Amino acid sequence: MKADVQVAVIGGGIVGASVLYWLAKMGWTDSVLMEHRELTSGSTWHSAGNTTYFGPYPSMTRLFAGSIRSYLQAEEESAQSVSFHQTGGLRLAATERELRLFHDYKPQYAELGIPLHVRTPEEVAELHPLIDTTNIFGAAHTPTDGHVDPVGATHALVKAACNLGASAESINLHQISIILPF
Ligand SMILES: Cc1cc2nc3c(=O)[nH]c(=O)nc-3n(C[C@H](O)[C@H](O)[C@H](O)COP(=O)(O)OP(=O)(O)OC[C@H]3O[C@@H](n4cnc5c(N)ncnc54)[C@H](O)[C@@H]3O)c2cc1C
Repeated sequence: MKADVQVAVIGGGIVGASVLYWLAKMGWTDSVLMEHRELTSGSTWHSAGNTTYFGPYPSMTRLFAGSIRSYLQAEEESAQSVSFHQTGGLRLAATERELRLFHDYKPQYAELGIPLHVRTPEEVAELHPLIDTTNIFGAAHTPTDGHVDPVGATHALVKAACNLGASAESINLHQISIILPF
């Protein structure tokens, strides 16, 4: 293992993997990911892996869009599948106020170039016949939503980062000391 690195990222879940990936993309390839068990042995492996664009603020939607782009980009660069399935997503409006909010979101999605439609209960029933639409006012429909395999996505990010020169190590932190350059 290298004794002197620019950045040591601790923990090989989706967060550590993304940090390592983006450091490497930015040219910080002298970075190492340290994991004391194996990649995705924390909570990442059992996350649902939903990849939605739906968020009430443009900054959130931009962040979600960036995550989805990262997974697909890492898949291409690493040849490790992330198993992305584009299913579309529905957010049901249980009140008229919620439906109005969905309409208010439309301009911000249009500005970001992300499709968002506001559907009537009849349209919701057509899109998803198993939903009981009796008491709903409509729904926000984001057709480019989907899900990935979170284990595949983590491995793809780490593999793509390692292809650029970063590294990932299995490590017991009790056995090393870290000297910070302050
Ligand atoms: C595609 C996707 C969609 C998601 N969608 C949602 C969502 O809709 N809503 C939501 O709430 N959450 C969502 N999540 C988040 C998910 O539920 C978890 O919160 C997230 O995956 C946790 O990631 P993490 O890297 O922070 O932690 P972890 O996956 O727990 O990773 C931490 C890692 O650190 C290692 N570690 C711990 N201590 C040490 C140490 N001392 N030395 C070395 N290694 C150590 C562990 O072994 C582990 O591998 C999503 C995640 C993914 C990947």
